Amino acid sequence: MKKYFNSIRKHLQVELAKSARDYLKIGLSLYHDRRSIGIQAPIGNLGIAIELMIKTYIAKNNPLLLFQGLPTELKVLFTCPDSSIKSFHWRRFDIDLRSFLYKTIEVWAYCPTKKDISFLSSFDMERAERVRKTIEAAKVKSKELKHDISLTSAEGWDEYNTECPICDSEGILTGNSDFHVLGEDETNFEIFLDFSADSFYCSECGLVLNDYKELELAGMDISYDRSSELDEWFEEHGPEPDEF
Ligand SMILES: [Zn+2]
Repeated sequence: MKKYFNSIRKHLQVELAKSARDYLKIGLSLYHDRRSIGIQAPIGNLGIAIELMIKTYIAKNNPLLLFQGLPTELKVLFTCPDSSIKSFHWRRFDIDLRSFLYKTIEVWAYCPTKKDISFLSSFDMERAERVRKTIEAAKVKSKELKHDISLTSAEGWDEYNTECPICDSEGILTGNSDFHVLGEDETNFEIFLDFSADSFYCSECGLVLNDYKELELAGMDISYDRSSELDEWFEEHGPEPDEF
C-alpha cells in the first residue's frame, strides 16, 4: 500500500498547490485593478488561495486530516501505509480521491456572520457579472473577425486545445493532465488520461476565463479525455506502473 499512498499523497499535494497558485495569481491580478473592480473580488480569491495553501501543507503531512467522512479502508491506508493488506482494493476509491469527491475539512473553524455570507454571495455575483461582460465583449469582437477560423496549438501536458464557445476558433485551456485507473482487480482494469482545465484563452475573440468556476459559467467543460495520448504520456513519465 506504500506505493499507492505515496502516489495519491503526491497527487493531492500537487493539485492543491496548483489551485492555490492559480487563485493567488488571479487575486493579485484583480488587486492591481481594484480601483475599477472593487476590493471584494481580490480578497475573495486571495482568501481561497490561503485556504488551499494550508490544505496543501496538511495533504503533504497527513492526508487523513484533509478529509471528512472517509471510508474505513482509506482511513487505514492513510494511518498505516506501510502495512500490506491483501483485501484492500484501492482502485474502488482512486477516482473519488483524485477528483476530491470526499469532502475536505473546513480550514476556518468559524461560523460566518450575516455580513460574511452577504460578502460571499456578492463575490459570486461579481464573478458572474465579470464573466458575462467578458463573454459580451468576446461576442462583439468575434463579429468583427474577417478571416477563417483560426487554429492554435497547445503545447505540453499543461495545455489542451478546445473550441472557443464564442467564435469557434481553437482556444487554449491551461490545467494539468493525469491518469486514473478503473477496474476491480489487478488483471482487469483500464487506464484513462484526463485533462483538468482551470483557465481558457482564445486569441481570436479575446475570451479569457480565469478559473474553473468561470469556465462553468461560460458553459465549458472542465474535464477532457485525452486517453488517445496515453502512450506519449507514459513515454515521458516512465512506464505504466505494473501494480496498477
Ligand atoms: Zn474565441
